[in-house]
Amino acid sequence: MTRLCVSLTENDTDGMLSAMRALPPEVRIAEVRLDMMASCDIPRLCLSRDREIIVTNRPVREGGSCAAPESERLTALRTAAEHGAEYVDVELDAVGALGELPAGVGRIVSYHNFRKTPADLPRVLRRILAAEPDVAKVAVKANDIADCAAVFDLIERQTAERPLIALCMGEEGLATRVLAGKLGAFLTFASRDEGAESAPGQVPVRDMLGMYRFPAIDAATEVYGVVANPVAHSMSPPIHNAAFAALGLNAVYLPLKVNNPRNFLDAFEPRDLRGLSVTIPHKEAMLELMDEVEELAARVGALNTVRIRDGRRYGCNTDVSAAMEAMTDAVQRAGRKELTDCDVLLVGAGGAGRAIAHGLAGRVAHLTIANRTVKRARQLAAELDAAWCPLDAISERRPDVLVNATAVGMWPKVDETPAPASMLRPGMVVFDSVYNPVRTRLLQEAEQAGAITASGFEWFVKQAAAQFTLWTDREAPREVMERVLRQRLAND
Ligand code: NAP
Repeated sequence: MTRLCVSLTENDTDGMLSAMRALPPEVRIAEVRLDMMASCDIPRLCLSRDREIIVTNRPVREGGSCAAPESERLTALRTAAEHGAEYVDVELDAVGALGELPAGVGRIVSYHNFRKTPADLPRVLRRILAAEPDVAKVAVKANDIADCAAVFDLIERQTAERPLIALCMGEEGLATRVLAGKLGAFLTFASRDEGAESAPGQVPVRDMLGMYRFPAIDAATEVYGVVANPVAHSMSPPIHNAAFAALGLNAVYLPLKVNNPRNFLDAFEPRDLRGLSVTIPHKEAMLELMDEVEELAARVGALNTVRIRDGRRYGCNTDVSAAMEAMTDAVQRAGRKELTDCDVLLVGAGGAGRAIAHGLAGRVAHLTIANRTVKRARQLAAELDAAWCPLDAISERRPDVLVNATAVGMWPKVDETPAPASMLRPGMVVFDSVYNPVRTRLLQEAEQAGAITASGFEWFVKQAAAQFTLWTDREAPREVMERVLRQRLAND
């Protein structure tokens, strides 16, 4: 089973020991980064530690912080080995100089490249193996998520006789760290906390255990994720992982920072990729890569969900149905009419606006589209046989349903609103696409005016729940998803 190792970067011996003791019990091994410590009493550290350790004293030339002469640097490693460290990590170019270690001490022979993932990784690994390590280690920088494929290949083709640690550093390499357990790497590294990483892209141990459920990842784990760029602040990984956990499914959901969707699919499909959420900027480009596309997604010209089954990619758009569901709920709560009887004013003609407009067109009595860039409103309206108006004319309207599909009011500009309070009135339905914050200024003013509201929060959860069901054929645990999203938004 792949081990989870937390790499510790504390300043001194006491700090290192207390950080180690504070690690969760699931973490049975820690890496001591001697090179990042101002001082270290190695014998005391080895004597007083409470779990297995890897001792590393990375030189500056290999991306570490140790600037001491080479003989001094290697002496520190030997001292650790003599005092019982389970493993020492020595760079490929220093194996000979380190010499023999006491029996029972594992020698990790490592190679690092902080600039790129070299094309000749198998050759690098052969050189490491020629040094007869107890464990081979390759850590390279991913500049594109497709670089992960080289590391996946390396682990999958490893020979049984030598355990291997192989990973891609950087945000684009996150999948190699989390999927190490699926592929059968010897171990993966996590950081003690955010901001305490010893190498770029390490995931905090809290997320490795909590969100990704690393100890449960095995060869059968199905892979899902959100394809986006940027992706770091996506709320989808916490809520989908929580949903998988709630139903006890052997699946993991990753943030996938993608530049080129085709290259990404080539790299990840052979690794049990089963489903994707797709967002900016890939919703349109991904359509072209599907074997089958839902009619609605084709009409909208954008998808937000991919399901991969039996090697076939199916693309659909759960944004549309989820927005319609959220709006229908609100109209029913307003107790006035059916959505079909409503006069709807939609503000926004970007991705969200397009999806909502396609959902509403032909289903409501009257649809008017307004947008800051008038040309976009006019085009969308023409496409759907709807009406349009300039943004500065919306205050004269008296719609039954007002929809904000712009980014106005979104964090951090929470004091902004797309519509004047004067146009809000009792019994009207106001739907805001923005979900951060949950209660936007628009929704607060709508409530004060006696309007019935629906939030982007509801929309987000509904579209995610629909994705989950499409992938798993199971009803999504919506309460769990809502709770996790609320927590994340509160902490954001
Ligand atoms: P997008 O494609 O970039 O479109 C942005 C829209 O906002 C355009 O209509 C744009 O008008 C308008 N806009 C931006 N800044 C504006 C300003 N200062 N004044 C007036 N209009 C402005 O983005 P999107 O994907 O449609 O997202 C729009 C909002 O919906 C975001 O807040 C997003 O988080 C939210 N959303 C929520 C969900 C959910 O599940 N709850 C799903 C998707 C989107 P121009 O055309 O003039 O640029």
